[in-house]
Amino acid sequence: MNNFSYTKVSTADQAVLEINGDIRNKIVAGGTNINDLLKYFITKADKLVDINPIIENNSITRLEEGGVRLGALHTNAATAYDPIIEERYPLLSKAILAGASAQIRNMATNGGNLMQRTRCYYFYDTSTPCNKRDPGSGCSAIKGYNRIHAILGQSENCIAVFPSDMCVALAALDAKVNINGPEGERVLAFAEFHRLPGDTPNIDNNLKHGEIITSIDLPEKGFEKNYSYLKIRDRSSYSFALVSVASGFDIQNGIIKEARIALGGVAHKPWRVKEAEDFLKDKEPNRENFSQAAHIILEGAKGYEHNSFKIELAKRAIVRNCLMALMPDSQRPGAKPSL
Ligand SMILES: Cc1cc2nc3c(=O)[nH]c(=O)nc-3n(C[C@H](O)[C@H](O)[C@H](O)COP(=O)(O)OP(=O)(O)OC[C@H]3O[C@@H](n4cnc5c(N)ncnc54)[C@H](O)[C@@H]3O)c2cc1C
Ligand code: SF4
Repeated sequence: MNNFSYTKVSTADQAVLEINGDIRNKIVAGGTNINDLLKYFITKADKLVDINPIIENNSITRLEEGGVRLGALHTNAATAYDPIIEERYPLLSKAILAGASAQIRNMATNGGNLMQRTRCYYFYDTSTPCNKRDPGSGCSAIKGYNRIHAILGQSENCIAVFPSDMCVALAALDAKVNINGPEGERVLAFAEFHRLPGDTPNIDNNLKHGEIITSIDLPEKGFEKNYSYLKIRDRSSYSFALVSVASGFDIQNGIIKEARIALGGVAHKPWRVKEAEDFLKDKEPNRENFSQAAHIILEGAKGYEHNSFKIELAKRAIVRNCLMALMPDSQRPGAKPSL
């Protein structure tokens, strides 16, 4: 870790003033990711701006138009266990609780979750080439040990995946990200927040330097009747997703009126395919239709030496999770697994 100065701010405007200008001015929230990045010299900071005292960004509030606002500094744990979220957005609760460990969720913040960096082994190993850490140096994963890597949306420069669970649910729910920066406030649709690697894998998302996330808005529709989050991983706790699926359905009289399916662990951003969701509209919710949707989602998927298994795994996970969404009561706390 290099030497840096440390300052605390109590408003979003102060945070923007403190970080603006120098690319080595960095924000710290829960510290569960940035502290490791600093310790391993993957990120270097001259100034660390602690945004934890910004009280206005540490709550959950109802929006007039019917949705809910999640403060960027509210912790993942407090968000998952908030009664409004449990009742109206159980898909989000379930996805958050599938992530990390209780200790980490108690520290990790909602804004930090969106900004967490990839878990590609080579990104954390400074003795190996990595275009994300050191642009132009090469990608060690493409011909290396790429078991956890992308099968969709990758580029010849980077095949890393974005590791968040929470963000898979936020993508499925069509959340919006509220941002404050030197040029004022702006809002990004969740689908526009994270980026594919392309030629610039060093840039994870569309937040500009000097900007901070202040909150995340959930629209009114929470799919609380038919939802499910499934995470396939090597251990049942404290492990990142090999593949994860968030599904939400609006089903009326036995017919799907609206479908949402988002995948995690397969690409550089949470993955949604509109054609697959459109295919399910006005169809019966059954294995055959979910299987067809899974094929549409995985069209064009490409595996590498160690991760090709993820293509079939993802298809099966989609079908299983969509079927589980038809039995949401089986996912309530204390319920016995039904599949
Ligand atoms: C062992 C381990 C296992 C984990 N497993 C999982 C898992 O299974 N699933 C999962 O989803 N996550 C997992 N995580 C990741 C964890 O969820 C993230 O580290 C956490 O959400 C980051 O939040 P934070 O507040 O601690 O961010 P910090 O570490 O404080 O910051 C992370 C980054 O976000 C930036 N940042 C923070 N807040 C803001 C803001 N408001 N505006 C702009 N930039 C901001 C910081 O500058 C930094 O670049 C795991 C982490 C660890 C250490
Ligand atoms: S996959 Fe991306 S993060 Fe991993 S080594 Fe290649 S460039 Fe680096």
